[in-house]
Amino acid sequence: MPATLLDGNALAKTMRAEIGARAGEFERTHSRKPGLAAVLVGDNPASQRYVRSKRKACATAGLESWLHPLPHGTSQAELLDLVARLNADPAVHGILVQLPLPKQIAEEAIIRAVSPVKDVDGFGPENLGLLAAGHPRYLPCTPFGIQQLLVRNGVSLEGAHVVIVGRSNIVGKPLALILMQKAPGANATVTVCHSRSRNLADLTRQADVVVVAIGVARFLEADMIQPGAVVVDVGINEAGDGKLVGDVDFDAVKEIASAISPVPGGVGPMTITMLLHNTVDAARLQAGER
Ligand code: NDP
Repeated sequence: MPATLLDGNALAKTMRAEIGARAGEFERTHSRKPGLAAVLVGDNPASQRYVRSKRKACATAGLESWLHPLPHGTSQAELLDLVARLNADPAVHGILVQLPLPKQIAEEAIIRAVSPVKDVDGFGPENLGLLAAGHPRYLPCTPFGIQQLLVRNGVSLEGAHVVIVGRSNIVGKPLALILMQKAPGANATVTVCHSRSRNLADLTRQADVVVVAIGVARFLEADMIQPGAVVVDVGINEAGDGKLVGDVDFDAVKEIASAISPVPGGVGPMTITMLLHNTVDAARLQAGER
């Protein structure tokens, strides 16, 4: 039987309405909207597209957003100066520095410079440390979105074996931390694989849930999962004909899996949704409500 679709567009719509209600409540109490400052350095078309989508989603959910476009040749000192000004601005509750940055700027230095209470991407060392210690403040948006996509579609993670393929700092590693939390909607047994993992298909075949986040088009094939497994596809790859494809061979795997997320329309819309969620949380935290 073909798999159920883990529809990120549908869940994002529901959750953005919930977030919009929380944003409206904040505005009624504080006479201003939760606000997100987006910083875009250079003219990478994909980054421009992502920032546009994020700002549009803010507007729809009743959040304020500001765009700070900087030229490609911006120095690290100039960017640090802007981040310092945004850190000090009380109207700005969340700061999003769109990655990747031009190579004259060390991403790590910028991530560390964002105030931890405004780090709504959840990438900074303080927020990652809180997550690792079991007291999360803001969860990184893509892995948070994956967890919500699973839980709110009725996939039980409690005691489930989740195999994550990919160990990046923005997806695989924080996802492992989120899913192994001693908390409802988590409590999973997590295996993390990467390019050096031996016998990777033997590992993915043991999983109740497989999450693939590697950036290799159609990498996960049908014989790499057990029948009935749940599959989440994080990858975004250009197929060559202008279309986007994920890291999963969707047409083959959907015949074996019990549930599967599509690309596009799976994890992508959830990532933006969790950014809005974190920005409202940040506004409430900075207003002393959390
Ligand atoms: P990175 O390039 O930072 O990390 C890729 C990871 O995959 C690494 O851990 C790497 O291993 C591992 N890997 C690469 N090739 C293989 C292989 N053949 N077998 C096993 N492991 C492998 O990527 P990101 O995490 O940033 O992104 C991954 C994908 O997810 C990309 O397609 C990206 O576009 C997409 N993405 C989508 C988002 C969304 O919102 N939908 C958000 C973020 C990313 P090693 O560590 O050993 O090098």
